[in-house]
Amino acid sequence: MTSLLSVKNLSVFYGASAQAVENVSFEVSPGKVTALLGANGAGKSSIMKAVGGLIPARGEIIFDGAPISHFPVRERVRRGIVYVPERREIVGELSVRENLVLGGYQISAAERRNRIALVLDLFPEIASKVDRGAWRLSGGEQQMLAIGRGLMSGPRLLLLDEPSLGLAPLLVRRVFERLGAIRSAGELAIVLVEQNLRMTMRLCDELHFLRSGRIVGHKRADELKDETARQQAVDAYLGAT
Ligand code: ATP
Repeated sequence: MTSLLSVKNLSVFYGASAQAVENVSFEVSPGKVTALLGANGAGKSSIMKAVGGLIPARGEIIFDGAPISHFPVRERVRRGIVYVPERREIVGELSVRENLVLGGYQISAAERRNRIALVLDLFPEIASKVDRGAWRLSGGEQQMLAIGRGLMSGPRLLLLDEPSLGLAPLLVRRVFERLGAIRSAGELAIVLVEQNLRMTMRLCDELHFLRSGRIVGHKRADELKDETARQQAVDAYLGAT
């Protein structure tokens, strides 16, 4: 299958000497979920931000057959790449609906209405609170809103940075269930950064393991079907966790 996203020899530097990502290469197919796993500071967020256009990087980023490294965030969003950040950067003073509208600033009003309906269908927890201030949502609901806002522009590639961060296990499961539903609904591809290894391994099609800015291992989901294989991958690539 042709790749939707192809990252080749990506390197990210913070300042002249601090290299956070070193020659990372990976491919993402349409409709697939790809995970980047690794300890704190391994470079996962830096890769995601580089693909989303939020920070500069060296190397090649090809999306849908075209090089996109020189494009600003806005153009990447227009082409279908959306980054959902690690911290829940929703606007508390705005309502849930207004936050969703912010995510769909590049689409027509009619499309926006349709997309809001789709997002609220996917996350009924926030549907009943759509006209309330976003600050009133729980942590899990805010995370749902952040993902929903990411879906508003109708992306083909969603870059999700730690969607389960700071959530209770039950809510993590719920967020992951919805991610599974988004995935099965169609052609949307997801790149996921997660600390939650078990659930990530169950959800993802491809997994890349990172250490100190480099990819040190790769597994397909079918290679991690049983618990022994999963534990071996964790031990081999991530050390004891
Ligand atoms: P975490 O799970 O903690 O977010 P991560 O795997 O996503 O970790 P990055 O956030 O990409 O890792 O960080 C990779 C390296 O780059 C780390 O050494 C980090 O300290 C450094 N780094 C990240 N952001 C900056 C920044 N804005 N300025 C300087 N160094 C940074």
